[in-house]
Amino acid sequence: MNEFNSLSISLTVAALLVCLSNIVFTKVQGRMGKRQNRVFMLLLIIVALNAACNTVTAFYRPFRSYSIFALYAANVARYLYFVFHTTLAPLFFFYVASVCGVTFRTRFLRKYLMIILFIITEAIAVLNPLTGWLYYLDNNQDYHRSWGMIAIYVASAIYLVMALSYLTTTWKALTVKRRTGIIMFASIAIAGIIIQMASTELKVELFAEAIGLTGIMIIIENEDDRIDGNTGIYNRQALIMDLNSYIINKNPICSLCVRITTPDIISHKADMDINEIVERAVADYLTQLVKRYHAYRVGPKNFVLIVFEDNTEKALTIASDIVKRFEKPWRLDDSVALLSAAIQVTTIPGSVNTVKDALYMFDSIPPFHSDKKIYSGRDLDYLVRKVAVEKAITNALSHGGFEVYYQPTYNIADMKLHGAEALVRLHNDELGMVFPDEFIPIAEENGLIDAIDDYVLLEVCKLINEEELSKYGVDCINVNLSVSQCLKPGFVEHIKGIVEEAGVDKPFINFEITESLSAFNYEILNEVITSLKKEGFKFSMDDYGTGYSNLRALANMDLDIIKIDKSILWEAEKTDLGEIILENNIRMIHQMNKDILIEGVETESQIELLKPLGVNYLQGFYFSKPVPKDQFLKIVHGQ
Ligand code: C2E
Ligand code: CA
Ligand code: CA
Repeated sequence: MNEFNSLSISLTVAALLVCLSNIVFTKVQGRMGKRQNRVFMLLLIIVALNAACNTVTAFYRPFRSYSIFALYAANVARYLYFVFHTTLAPLFFFYVASVCGVTFRTRFLRKYLMIILFIITEAIAVLNPLTGWLYYLDNNQDYHRSWGMIAIYVASAIYLVMALSYLTTTWKALTVKRRTGIIMFASIAIAGIIIQMASTELKVELFAEAIGLTGIMIIIENEDDRIDGNTGIYNRQALIMDLNSYIINKNPICSLCVRITTPDIISHKADMDINEIVERAVADYLTQLVKRYHAYRVGPKNFVLIVFEDNTEKALTIASDIVKRFEKPWRLDDSVALLSAAIQVTTIPGSVNTVKDALYMFDSIPPFHSDKKIYSGRDLDYLVRKVAVEKAITNALSHGGFEVYYQPTYNIADMKLHGAEALVRLHNDELGMVFPDEFIPIAEENGLIDAIDDYVLLEVCKLINEEELSKYGVDCINVNLSVSQCLKPGFVEHIKGIVEEAGVDKPFINFEITESLSAFNYEILNEVITSLKKEGFKFSMDDYGTGYSNLRALANMDLDIIKIDKSILWEAEKTDLGEIILENNIRMIHQMNKDILIEGVETESQIELLKPLGVNYLQGFYFSKPVPKDQFLKIVHGQ
């Protein structure tokens, strides 16, 4: 054995080992099973087979003159080497196409040219024992290249150029990682080929390819940064990349955005976030409907499925299956729950043409108070309305347009005025009056809620300063706070600053906060409440009974008033069970030593129902709807 030969054997054995360990590693990691992953595995197997063949040839060749077996083994292995090796360039081309998101559904000419090229080159390799077109062995059994070898190199170059052209056309849709991975593999493999072409003896090509594939495995195939930790499906980043690729490659798709609309569930076990369990259960179900790699988690309790159809038919069938599934309960670890969902079905391109627009749509919460479950086509017009409302909010913040209405609250004992709740309204020339149920969720989504709540608080401070409300028996004015705002650092100082600058007595302001919060947030919220209470402000819990009350957290909070939601009162009027629920809630809240306000009082008979139950305050249309400031002042002055 000469030096070159033993070095070549070492390199090919090394290539074999590298490929085998990559195969094992890829299997253990359990990839998504996409076409790209399958082609990558095939590339590894082919390079491993090549390395195995090369090792056999290199090992037996020196003994070919002594042993007929050695001669055959070396020759058969060399033959198989070429049969396998010819598939490498087309496979690499196919791999790059997959990574770049190129499909051949519409590119027939290109598809057939590539297939014909493959058949020709493979035929040259397969028929070589009969033709000797690729290589031949002389009388001495020494190996010589024929013209076919050049043909195969030329074909490989064509595949490479085609692959690089895909790379450049989809350049923008690829992450730096993906570009680097492919270019690195191509450069290392080309360097190996050039060295090998220069010297038939030094077999570095396979080793170079094995190293290149390792790079691809680490850089491209490893998708840790594309996967959502909790659900194990793709994340928002992955969706952005893939949508980009579909749009650039002109692959029409249909997207189904599935949003769980059940309010946040609060866990009774502090160490467990039920919302994560909900997301896992729903993600598991959704991946039964489409391939795992076509399901994404785009945000909290919000998923997107991709369907490859130009029309929405298939997507709508899947959507109605999902709706049916949501009619049944879900197993969540050791409990069972009913969940609700809303689904948007969109074609891209079509109703949406850019990634930005698609994300805007996925992030949009479907219209409030709607029983509709599937939104497609014209249904998505609510997005147009949403954009208009968003503009109206921005406009009102800079040019005016918000107005604070007041809804009085009463003492049940003497039916005298107790205070009022400040409720914001939005006036817009085009939209008319917009109600908070519509614009508050939009403002919460885009972060403008902070400015709105500040405006309301300032208006309330002005009212308190201008009028001597306490003279007329008004105890306090209630101001709604958005939970997301409360949880921001520096919130307490911010609120304190506004009220102190206005020179208002802090106990005159009673903040309302809704009770649907996650267990984690309860702790932070409790700190905020404690700090604000220390300053002298009052605090109420709003909409009690609508969420999943965390009673222990509620008992620990320093609250002055619990506002029981109107739905509880209305249900109590209708059914016996509803009445029991109302009575029990009232008893429990009293045991926590907190006062109770009942909202939504509309009739005399409701007041009669409430009187014996020991509630403290009432609010509702029976007394007054929310009214503008001047009308509220008339009520205050008893006019
Ligand atoms: P909320 O805090 O629960 O306010 C009570 C809502 O119930 C008000 O709707 C009020 O008009 C309505 N309501 C009161 N009594 C009755 C009744 O007897 N029957 C019926 N059917 N409804 C009654 P509004 O003013 O449309 O406010 C809706 C929600 O918008 C509020 O619910 C609150 O969550 C939010 N909101 C209003 N103003 C603000 C604000 O300044 N800041 C924040 N963050 N949210 C606000
Ligand atoms: Ca309220
Ligand atoms: Ca309420």
